[in-house]
Formats: sequence, C-alpha cells, structure tokens
Amino acid sequence: MTLAEDIAHGMYIMVYCENQACNHAWPLDFALAIEKLGPDFDRVKDRERFLHALVCSKCGSRYPSIIVSNEAMRKAGSKAAATWGMIPPGAKSDGKK
Ligand SMILES: [Zn+2]
Repeated sequence: MTLAEDIAHGMYIMVYCENQACNHAWPLDFALAIEKLGPDFDRVKDRERFLHALVCSKCGSRYPSIIVSNEAMRKAGSKAAATWGMIPPGAKSDGKK
C-alpha cells in the first residue's frame, strides 16, 4: 500500500506517541508524508522506515504506534479498523520479489 494508494482509498492514519508522559495523538498528514517519502513509498513493506519518519511534534519521539482505517471502516465502527494494516515488526512476506 503506497501513500498515493492510501489517499486514493481515503485511508486515515492516526499516529500515537509511544512516550507515556506525552501521549500525543494526531492524524497523519499525507501531504507531509509524501513530501518526505514520496507518493510511491510503501508504508506496509517499508514499515520500519515509515515509523522512523514519524516524529512526535510534541516530544520528538520516534516509532509511534499507528492505527489505519478508512471512512467506511470508521462509519461501520468495525473492530477490524483497529488492527487493519498493522503488521507485526517481525513479519516477512513469503520471499517473493
Ligand atoms: Zn510525544
């Protein structure tokens, strides 16, 4: 899923600072993300780099948590929205290029 595809699909990404003393949460600014990473950046495949690029504007922490959803999911109030797009850090695709 590239950033351009995210926008095309109306995706919405909430970013949560992992710093317990901060707890800042903000919606991802896609325009800013694209400016930084490019529209073809694959945030699923390149998750580590994506999270590294996200910096808390309040405390400067990196590697926040993200929750991905879209308009339909939010309307449905689906629980799946909470985990959709979340890939465990250790997960690897099955070797195909
Ligand atoms: Zn923070």
